[in-house]
Amino acid sequence: MSFARASSFPPSDADAASVSFDGLGLAPELLKAVVDSGYTVPTPIQARAIPLALAGKDIMGGAQTGTGKTAAFALPILQRLLPLASSSPSPARHPVRALILAPTRELALQVFGAVKTYAKYTPLRAMCAFGGVDIKPQTAELKSGVEILVATPGRLLDHVEQKSVHFNAVQTLVLDEADRMLDMGFIPDIRRILNLLPAQRQSLLFSATFSDEIKRLADVILKMPVLLEVARRNQVSETILHRVYSVAEHDKRALLIHLLKSGEITQTIVFTRTRQGCSRLARELQRAGIGADAIHGDKTQHERIRTLDAFKSGQIAALVATDVAARGLDIEELPYVINYELPHVPEDYIHRIGRTGRAGRQGKAISLVAAHEADYLRDIEKLLKKPVERILLPDFELETNSAAGQGRGRAARRPVAVAAEPSRGVRPERARSERLIAPDGFDFSKPYEPRGDLSPASADAPPAPYRRPKKPIAALLGGLGRKPET
Ligand code: AMP
Repeated sequence: MSFARASSFPPSDADAASVSFDGLGLAPELLKAVVDSGYTVPTPIQARAIPLALAGKDIMGGAQTGTGKTAAFALPILQRLLPLASSSPSPARHPVRALILAPTRELALQVFGAVKTYAKYTPLRAMCAFGGVDIKPQTAELKSGVEILVATPGRLLDHVEQKSVHFNAVQTLVLDEADRMLDMGFIPDIRRILNLLPAQRQSLLFSATFSDEIKRLADVILKMPVLLEVARRNQVSETILHRVYSVAEHDKRALLIHLLKSGEITQTIVFTRTRQGCSRLARELQRAGIGADAIHGDKTQHERIRTLDAFKSGQIAALVATDVAARGLDIEELPYVINYELPHVPEDYIHRIGRTGRAGRQGKAISLVAAHEADYLRDIEKLLKKPVERILLPDFELETNSAAGQGRGRAARRPVAVAAEPSRGVRPERARSERLIAPDGFDFSKPYEPRGDLSPASADAPPAPYRRPKKPIAALLGGLGRKPET
């Protein structure tokens, strides 16, 4: 695919920084909504994309959540629909004219919320269609007519099958977080949807990454697109401090509880890889007296919204989440993100930590990394183009807690771990498992006297007794423990 390149247009990030909303050619009713939202200057992706999208261009946008990309496509869509807006109640006067596809319910709802906010001074109608909830109210709303439809692909196809939606008037298609759609296997669905859309249309594709597969998808969807790339979060967020705590798998829970009970971390997302692990960890945190809840794909929409609201309002301190569920969640100014398990796809690390360090604020990304995750850490460092500092937690010591240890099987019989003695690192016979030593020579097991099996299977071993670090938690946090700036 070849992309249009213009020397002065779209403006560079530096030029874009001096553009004002007034200068973007937006209608007064949209500008008013922008002002109500508290935005004073357009973000770089907005400054660059809005004029192009208003001019009807196709765009391939490299931008993630947090860059302001939603307004970058939503405002021009609304503006281009304004002349067609009708106050007539007749459904025929409100056909679907803009279709916005998003990979998850959360993201779809978030985009829908933004569209509604920007459209509040216009007569344009918007709705959101996603799975996991009763289809009938959506069908009724679709039949009454909407100009802007935000949808997840699966549910949209359900509506297509029910003939509750028609696409002959669609003039703009947006694929939001296309890379995630690909990861989630939505491409066949998207191809089916594309076949139903008018060939004459504007298409906008947003993706955090530009893999070959994304480029192939763009080839099918976009016509002479302009390529816009704004700094990826790992580049913009130099304010994020990354730290790895090397910790045995079976000690992760105790360490996490320490961190959360320290008082330093008032609100955080804790990322896990699997849905079961996510629920289990949330329960364990609750049992430890920490306000926590899980958000993952097995939860109903209602549960997810309730949990998210509780987190946003500060009722719960730890939102335990899987990558898919957390994707696209707009949670502002999170001072900490904790990776309880490293993602297997390094780009997911970038997405995860994109929840912190926004708008130049300092953010902290803490990863609890066990020996078996060494390869994933290496891939992440390759993507970040820098090593992540490892904290060895020399004073993190198992408390001799006989009550906690009695009768609990293998964990109870384990010797008390004393981490501070380097000479008692991995004994040759215990180091039988090569995976203890990371390929870059970093010995993840070093801070601990190995006890029991440190292999991944030990994740299911009974939890280690509660431990208390000798050092104050601020020291444990390795310089991360300062109160977040406000
Ligand atoms: P998005 O990347 O579209 O998910 O937007 C991330 C967050 O940035 C949302 O909370 C938006 O309300 C906010 N936002 C979008 N545009 C601007 C802007 N120009 N100024 C300040 N905040 C903005």
